[in-house]
Amino acid sequence: MIHADLHIHTVYSSDSLLQPKTLVDQLVAHSYIKVAAITDHDSVRGCKATVELASDYPDIVIIPGVEITTPKGDMLVLGTDKLPPKPWTPENIADYTTSIAGVSIVAHPFRLYGMGEFARNVKADAIEVLNGGSSPSANTHAKELAKSMGLPGTAGSDAHQLSELFSVNCSIDAGLNVEEILAAIRKGSVVAQLTSGTIRF
Ligand SMILES: [Zn+2]
Repeated sequence: MIHADLHIHTVYSSDSLLQPKTLVDQLVAHSYIKVAAITDHDSVRGCKATVELASDYPDIVIIPGVEITTPKGDMLVLGTDKLPPKPWTPENIADYTTSIAGVSIVAHPFRLYGMGEFARNVKADAIEVLNGGSSPSANTHAKELAKSMGLPGTAGSDAHQLSELFSVNCSIDAGLNVEEILAAIRKGSVVAQLTSGTIRF
């Protein structure tokens, strides 16, 4: 069983202050969250830089990913350090993600830049049911959407700075291995939860 924060922005997103090195240090120091997905806005530079830095530490895993801005709302793609081919429609993002055996996630469906009920038309692998930047009611609404669609629900802090990191996490029934983690999420072996007692160093 591993614990992961599946939605994090680094300085390679224009609106984030979080340095890749800071994230790696926090993962190394955390008592049980040892996996993080880097999902910068429309860029894979941050995940490449962070994967490189993390390679010195065998007990942490960085999942490469990206948060794509589509005309309908944001989508997370986990398991790639390449940008999907354009046009960036939700359908194309979902199809691309399937073709690379990644995980596509409808990000914060009921917040600004979320796709709301349109998500029902998209063949995504999961719904983000716990987003660190969303209100409790928006997260509850997302949870109901995932349930009614029969999709797994994921959690991500959506951190843009250190103080927001690891506010939520997922328990995933997998080892410290990217392919295993992605397969477990697709299978629904994932539980989204608030992180209690996070100590930052
Ligand atoms: Zn985000």
